[in-house]
Amino acid sequence: MLLTSDFVKSRYEALRSRAPGLHVITDIEGASDPDVTALFAFKLPAGIAPRLPNLRLAASVGAGADGILSAPDLPPHVKVTRAVEPGLGFSMAQFVSLQILRHFRSLPAMERQHAAGEWKRMAVLDASQLTVGIMGLGSIGSVVADALLALGFRVIAWTRTSARKARVPVFVGESQKDDFLAQSNYLVCLLPFTAETKGTLDHASLRKLPKDSFVVNVARGGIVVEDDLLALVDEGHLAGAALDVFASEPLPASSPFWHHERILVTPHVAAQPTVGPVVEQFLENLQRLAQGQPLLNQVDRSVGY
Ligand code: NAP
Repeated sequence: MLLTSDFVKSRYEALRSRAPGLHVITDIEGASDPDVTALFAFKLPAGIAPRLPNLRLAASVGAGADGILSAPDLPPHVKVTRAVEPGLGFSMAQFVSLQILRHFRSLPAMERQHAAGEWKRMAVLDASQLTVGIMGLGSIGSVVADALLALGFRVIAWTRTSARKARVPVFVGESQKDDFLAQSNYLVCLLPFTAETKGTLDHASLRKLPKDSFVVNVARGGIVVEDDLLALVDEGHLAGAALDVFASEPLPASSPFWHHERILVTPHVAAQPTVGPVVEQFLENLQRLAQGQPLLNQVDRSVGY
């Protein structure tokens, strides 16, 4: 296990108590054990995988596998998996709904009024007149879509392939991206970070959103071009943004996103896989690996998710 953060350490403790007999190595620098067949990590730094000649599985403790796939020296035969569990979709649905409702129901203005002791009523808008566009309708995006439908919004989604069945209209691929964006009053980014999605929300794309749209990025920072987003908020095309993920984390103190009155920064806390199911999935995959069976939640390395 590569203990690169407290997040991963808590998974380590759960793994040790669930499978005390498992031989687990946590010393990144010293990792060169020929017995190591599997890695359990969030980020895989360069230089580790080549020291593990019998490595066959690199399992992400998180829902995204980008921190593992970004290792430039991960041999092509190593299988990569990611964490998928129902609690993650529910946590994300809560967080995205919170951000959308905070803006839609003018919570910051009400909190300012409360602080000022001011009684001033405001109009209650009709959610069905507003469209939430969800980029990525996967294991998490589909749960978020259901929650927002239940709150009365019109919901649409954008995906890469047309393979998924959905309860909402789905726009597919680059050819339908502009139509999708042009209808999205709230844009929720739940794409994986891949070679294709990197920088996909640039100035040209964000400009396609209707005026006064609001952006929620809970996927990965590198998908949004941060300077372009900031410029469009500052020039008034976008009403604001709620950002949970950033190109550089922790977000540097010098970032103009901090203290911006129309941007809310949160520290990559939108959702986290529940420890128990993720550890169980890893142990199940170790067994499957030993028995030559298909793995749970294996990433297609050719597309990056
Ligand atoms: P998933 O099940 O793999 O779904 C990914 C979705 O994105 C699919 O609908 C896929 O399209 C679509 N997609 C991928 N590449 C695309 C492209 N080039 N163009 C258009 N659509 C594309 O992923 P998930 O489990 O829902 O997780 C999504 C992401 O959320 C994770 O990768 C992670 O980065 C992020 N996340 C963040 C947090 C946080 O705390 N902020 C927590 C958990 C997860 P198809 O349906 O056609 O395959």
